[in-house]
Amino acid sequence: MKQIATTTSDAHDLPHAQHGKAATRKLARYQRMMARRKPGKGLPGGKGYQAAKKRVARLYKKVARQRQDTGRKWAKTVVRDHDRIAVEDFRPKFLARSSMARKAADAAIAATKRALIEMGRKHGRDVRLVHPAYTTMDCAHCGARAKHRMPLPERTYTCIACGFVSPRDKNSARVMLLRAGWNPDGVEGASPAKALPPQAA
Ligand SMILES: [Zn+2]
Repeated sequence: MKQIATTTSDAHDLPHAQHGKAATRKLARYQRMMARRKPGKGLPGGKGYQAAKKRVARLYKKVARQRQDTGRKWAKTVVRDHDRIAVEDFRPKFLARSSMARKAADAAIAATKRALIEMGRKHGRDVRLVHPAYTTMDCAHCGARAKHRMPLPERTYTCIACGFVSPRDKNSARVMLLRAGWNPDGVEGASPAKALPPQAA
């Protein structure tokens, strides 16, 4: 994953800061320390165990704070430069089986989204949460929906109906603006009604 947030303006994209990366290595070490010193059931654990536990907690806090800082700084710029903000309304899934890196990225996305919504509302911006389904499959130009989900490594969206070609995430960002009821710049003839997901979804 390269980006935490993709916007319709290149200048406002937020690259993945990888705050979790260095921490992940340390975390693994402390967790091994905890495992080695694991107390019996119902016992509090020795000094070493408690110390490792404290380090894990401190590390979690530090990474969370870094994420929040990055998210707030970014949100400030976005809110300063835009009156209307459409945000995809989804919750990252913190799957138990996903990798540490994936979990870190999801946590960063959640923190960033929260910061943007809070900052936007605080400054009186028109913030709209949009339906998250099919944002990667719909064409921001003609509203047609692709029959199949694009494989993740495919970074370019190509519409079979109208031939519109766009970086994948940029197309999604524009689809979101359409869903919010706005017409993104440079997208002519796009119909917000067509870009809406079906009622059944
Ligand atoms: Zn199209």
